[in-house]
Amino acid sequence: AAKAEHRSSVKVFEPALLYARRLQGLMISELREAIRTDQLVLHFQPVVELKSGRVEGAEALVRWNHPDRGLLMPDAFIPLAEETGIIIDLGYWVLRQAMRQLRLWQDGPGVDENFSMRVNISTTELQSLELIEHVREVLAETGVEASRLVIELTESMAVNGSDIDRYSLTGLRRLGIRLEIDDFGTGYSSISYLRSLPVNVVKIDRSLIQGLGTDDKEREFVAAVLQLIHACGMQAVAEGIETAEQAAELGRLGCASGQGYHFGRPMPPEQFAELLRGT
Ligand code: C2E
Ligand code: MG
Ligand code: MG
Ligand code: MG
Repeated sequence: AAKAEHRSSVKVFEPALLYARRLQGLMISELREAIRTDQLVLHFQPVVELKSGRVEGAEALVRWNHPDRGLLMPDAFIPLAEETGIIIDLGYWVLRQAMRQLRLWQDGPGVDENFSMRVNISTTELQSLELIEHVREVLAETGVEASRLVIELTESMAVNGSDIDRYSLTGLRRLGIRLEIDDFGTGYSSISYLRSLPVNVVKIDRSLIQGLGTDDKEREFVAAVLQLIHACGMQAVAEGIETAEQAAELGRLGCASGQGYHFGRPMPPEQFAELLRGT
């Protein structure tokens, strides 16, 4: 009986693996199709100046409006896009769409000359020689000034330190774009290395500010993180602000900007436009 069971479990296992492969293959072609047929959508989350409460910009976050499976979040398809190289086309689509949206908003109400758009890029994009060309092209095509674009890269990407990464970062900075380290505090970068990067803004990860407002030690800790960022000559943004206490505390500690459900969730462009109009 044990032998039979063993055999049957092998039989089940093999087709399951094949099935998973086939599903992945299907998803890859679906994702390519999704980019071509505009099934991807951008949602926008407000970035707020903590002192005034003014919306100073937006972060573009991609979703996939899948014909059968509904709205998919980035975790469900970005990793696959990265593994397969589809992320290059996807990222190009996101960049163009975000800059077109910014172009539409920038002359409207509630948007001043400092309003910026944040776009996430992944390692594969940073290591692609096309990135700088894509950025230059999209800026020229939409007429958005480079200073309004902030490119977000994660700590682990930036500290890889390869020549090509350096080349891309320096090239982007030369275009006049601002660079931001996302999810700061979740990687293992050395502080001196971080300081040497051509980065303007550091986004403090949600996990670092979660305990704020409940505990004095947490306040000391966040104060020290902010001091460190400022000592590097960089600006700080806090992400994942969910309570009024966290927002107030971060403001008191000198954090310039914040983002999180407390101010607004990522939302479709029409809703973001309402937020800008103050309605
Ligand atoms: P991220 O860039 O760190 O974006 C922040 C994530 O935290 C977003 O999740 C956002 O919805 C969520 N968030 C914002 N405020 C709060 C809050 O107060 N509490 C909590 N619990 N969560 C909050 P989302 O949209 O699911 O995106 C996840 C990640 O996917 C992003 O993390 C980013 O790394 C990646 N991603 C999103 N769009 C793109 C894109 O266009 N290109 C690339 N390469 N990656 C993207
Ligand atoms: Mg981000
Ligand atoms: Mg983040
Ligand atoms: Mg993240």
